[in-house]
Amino acid sequence: MQTTTLQKYITAFTSLRQNKHYARGFAPHKPILLLAVLQGIECGLIQQNCIEVSPQLLLLFKNIWHELQPKGWHCAMLNPFRHLVSEGFWLPMRQYAKVTPEEWAAATVSFKRLQDEGYSVALEPELWNLLQDVVARNALRSALLHVYFPQQQSDIKLPKPDELLQKELQKLINHPGPFPRIQTQVHETRGDEAYLRSALFPRVIRSLYSEACSVCALSLRTETSSLVQAAHILPHSQFHNDHPCNGIALCQNHHWGFDRGVFTIDNQYNIIVCSSLQHRTDYVQHDSKLHLPYLPEYAPSPEALEWHRENVFHE
Ligand SMILES: [Zn+2]
Repeated sequence: MQTTTLQKYITAFTSLRQNKHYARGFAPHKPILLLAVLQGIECGLIQQNCIEVSPQLLLLFKNIWHELQPKGWHCAMLNPFRHLVSEGFWLPMRQYAKVTPEEWAAATVSFKRLQDEGYSVALEPELWNLLQDVVARNALRSALLHVYFPQQQSDIKLPKPDELLQKELQKLINHPGPFPRIQTQVHETRGDEAYLRSALFPRVIRSLYSEACSVCALSLRTETSSLVQAAHILPHSQFHNDHPCNGIALCQNHHWGFDRGVFTIDNQYNIIVCSSLQHRTDYVQHDSKLHLPYLPEYAPSPEALEWHRENVFHE
């Protein structure tokens, strides 16, 4: 490890440009995001010099925020993810190419946009190399805590992202909130919570249906992917509704047919197949029962199913 390089980045990390509020003091977001990145490298979440937004990174950020309890500020990761670029070592990229400040400003309007359009951040190579060394990471973490959170006496707890993810999934399953009223005009919500809910929707649904298709009960997965998908009953592009009761676990074959109105579901959870395809019992059996989630309160919403029958199903 180069001591001069470490010193250079200790100086950079401890002289961040921060917003200042007359009552709340300096904004804690940038140092907390850097602490989350250090932890992400530490636990193997960030393995390449390519930092992407992900539920795991956001959960690390939220967890560190919760540990440090900065007063008065709202916990939000998108702004520091955008504004760290002014520090010089945080380089916005898209598919391994640098992006202009204008493009970055447009891309950082939402996590979804960053993720869907393949934006990420690279650190200066010298910094990335430095962060592979545990001694350097510890020195930078101590410097950040010492300068920005001097009231923090002990070191912060550093949980594993997978544990945080499991906790968050349980939280979304246990406290989903009321089913949103169905409206024709719904705007996408862009906060951290909406991003988490949306990004974790597939996992919540697959978990509620025990990773099996609710039509054919097929369940097949490898270590990294599953044949079973989470379908939105009210389309996400139109309703942005990530409540568990707007979800249904379907294999790829049945997801395709459900989204195209080949079959629908009545309020007693019977499968109704369009008349022209009722003879195709090899695909789906008309009038058979849908397999419901293991927690019955998360069965598909009757209002959402009614909408699907009226707007998607081809009788
Ligand atoms: Zn299926």
